[in-house]
Amino acid sequence: MVAAASSRGWGRGWPRDRSSEMRTVTAPSGARWDVHYDVAPILKRIVDEAERRGYRFQKGPRDVRDDWGYANRPISGTRVASEHSWGLAVDIDAQDYPQGQRRRVPPAWLIELFRSYRWEWGGNWSYADPMHFEFTGTRNDAKRMVAMLAGSPPVHVPPVVAPVPLPPKVLPVRSQISVGASGRLVEILQWELAYISGAQFPGEHGVYLGMVRDAVRNLGKILGKSWDGSYVGPDQWAAIDYLYLKGGHEPVVS
Ligand SMILES: [Zn+2]
Repeated sequence: MVAAASSRGWGRGWPRDRSSEMRTVTAPSGARWDVHYDVAPILKRIVDEAERRGYRFQKGPRDVRDDWGYANRPISGTRVASEHSWGLAVDIDAQDYPQGQRRRVPPAWLIELFRSYRWEWGGNWSYADPMHFEFTGTRNDAKRMVAMLAGSPPVHVPPVVAPVPLPPKVLPVRSQISVGASGRLVEILQWELAYISGAQFPGEHGVYLGMVRDAVRNLGKILGKSWDGSYVGPDQWAAIDYLYLKGGHEPVVS
């Protein structure tokens, strides 16, 4: 956790009622968060980009509303104002990423996307809060960032779409690989995942570790498959190769 927002130029938090300073940010899927107007354009840029890469904060009409922003309250169990009480924190997909555990967490690329806009993830805290992200900058930082965003239009990444039955080209035969594997097949997998979902694997190049697992599991989610990400077998290769080839690339065979 960073220094409280009151020491970063945001004034007093809980119990002060700041609801009049909130603006609603809506993702393309319909998920909504009320956050401080000085960070609203930053959050908007993040959630738009995340959904362009295939993530859905709102999974469909039957998904519950489990994305939260402003709440005038202290940190649970304390008398310390929560960053939510300044409208500087959001919780995403609370059902999927419950507090107090480190197993079910957002995809690594999404955490990295938030981090690149100075939103810290709560999943590494001593009491893990994997649904939680908070803006760590000062109020002036936020204003500068918004001014910069206004001058730089977003980069559009094509959304990931579900495969249709007929692949455009003959797929190479791939053997199954799982967590702990290394070598050329893992490199090919990382290359294709990076292309189709924007995932990145800093420090894990050519090795099947946590970031690959998260990327495979997340892709499965998007495709409606219950992949746990621990391995890539015939089904996963077929979908990943298909999405990759569909983008006009030649298959990577060796
Ligand atoms: Zn939170």
